[in-house]
Amino acid sequence: MSILDEILEKGKGVVSSVSKNTDTAVRFSKLKVKATQLSSDIKVKNEKLGAIIYDMVKTNVKENEEFDALIAQIDEDYAKLAEISAQLDELKNVVTCTHCGAKTKNENSYCPKCGTKLPERKVEEQAEDNKDDEV
Ligand SMILES: [Zn+2]
Repeated sequence: MSILDEILEKGKGVVSSVSKNTDTAVRFSKLKVKATQLSSDIKVKNEKLGAIIYDMVKTNVKENEEFDALIAQIDEDYAKLAEISAQLDELKNVVTCTHCGAKTKNENSYCPKCGTKLPERKVEEQAEDNKDDEV
């Protein structure tokens, strides 16, 4: 390999690692925005739900389609929110304890708060990183 080739190779490495960090930061802030949006969506839906319940009590009507639909939507939002927070954890390299809910560093095997054994992480990230480089 000539010196020029070596320099070019090194240059490539630097560029790809920088773009990877930027990519992580962008993904992180996008997820944060989504999580904030979902939280405020849930808040709005909960307020609507409150108004509907008030009406149901006042009018003594026990069935309301909008009520059922809202409950389903809120459940969906909570599921999405949980998914996003798991993705955020992954980007931050933390895991959430299944027992007490404390967040801890990925490399810990046991929860520092309650001592529960933490789920082992799958080591599949290498493969994913290689895919990123090709793009
Ligand atoms: Zn714990």
